[in-house]
Amino acid sequence: MTFYDQSKIETLISQETLQSRIKAMGTQITQDYLGQGDLVLVCVLKGSYLFLADLSRAIDLPLTVDFISVSSYGNDYESSGVVRMVHDLSHSIENKHVLIVEDIIDTGLTMSYLLANLQTRKPKSLKVVSLLHKPSKAKTQVQIDYLGFEIPDRFVIGYGLDFHNQFRNMPYIGVNLSGDIPLNPAYLSTKTE
Ligand code: 5GP
Repeated sequence: MTFYDQSKIETLISQETLQSRIKAMGTQITQDYLGQGDLVLVCVLKGSYLFLADLSRAIDLPLTVDFISVSSYGNDYESSGVVRMVHDLSHSIENKHVLIVEDIIDTGLTMSYLLANLQTRKPKSLKVVSLLHKPSKAKTQVQIDYLGFEIPDRFVIGYGLDFHNQFRNMPYIGVNLSGDIPLNPAYLSTKTE
């Protein structure tokens, strides 16, 4: 049994497909950064935490990880582009190769803000890896150096991505077909926000 109602969720990207693509991305990144010097993976919280966990283990290089959290004002489904820093990096990135690890690039506004912000800290290089991209929603062009999957303009949940701050621990990427919170009836007494 699962805490979510599987009949209300359409699978967009299965666990197996996620894992094999992430392994290939890790291999590519390993080749590209081999012998280049200090590599820092910057995980954009919260949505990227599972992607970071799997991607970092697919990269066969010495590296460090750091975390950044930004919040963009908007509704549950769309960011407004007005971005605010919630939690900053804990170490300097000056003179280091920085790879920003993002779960999804939608309008591109959050990533534009992050790129502009981190660039001022003089990294040796600054690149972007994103698991998902919704090209039809772009409001600003962002170069994605490593991309997992292009997806259609649908609100996705699971594998780190939330719905009302839940469902991050659903192990695949899905689309909620119910319009409501797709909990398994056996779990309906569970408190939700
Ligand atoms: P952007 O600034 O590119 O519009 O938005 C990026 C952020 O919006 C992502 O990091 C994510 O938090 C949120 N977001 C965009 N699309 C989706 C989606 O389909 N599902 C979920 N759960 N979050 C999304």
